[in-house]
Amino acid sequence: MRVTERTLVLIKPDGVARRHVGEILSRIERKGLDIVALELRTATEEVAAAHYAEHEGKPFYPGLIEFITSRPLVAAVLEGPRAIAAFRQLAGGTDPVEKAVPGSIRGDLGLDAGENLVHGSDSVESAEREIALWFPALAGS
Ligand code: GDP
Ligand code: MG
Repeated sequence: MRVTERTLVLIKPDGVARRHVGEILSRIERKGLDIVALELRTATEEVAAAHYAEHEGKPFYPGLIEFITSRPLVAAVLEGPRAIAAFRQLAGGTDPVEKAVPGSIRGDLGLDAGENLVHGSDSVESAEREIALWFPALAGS
């Protein structure tokens, strides 16, 4: 049985500034995931803090919030079978050098553990919470 999922994806400000939006959306489309919401916006402190609440108190947290709110990003909701794991596979591990393999978005395009191009929800629960935060009109639909 194939279970359709939704996942919340961000093309972080470094990905937009480095003009990788088309490249990243192309990889998503080639994988076979559907884009059901897509918007360029600049994250507020409130949304950024709620999004990264699990990391509050960690050494990199202040810099992470500053980075995420600094410039426009692309927020998206993807849909498809096993969409959550499928996008995490496309993204690669958190550290683009130590963890992300070549062929992944971070492995191919990144060098920095903080400015690592993309975010993808890590579980069904995270996806529901993050979709409600970024695209409240979609939540529960
Ligand atoms: P993700 O789910 O792969 O994005 O990784 P995490 O949920 O563990 O961390 C969230 C985000 O915080 C990462 O994507 C990075 O942008 C940032 N981050 C995590 N760990 C580090 C770190 O050790 N150093 C820095 N500078 N940023 C980090
Ligand atoms: Mg995470």
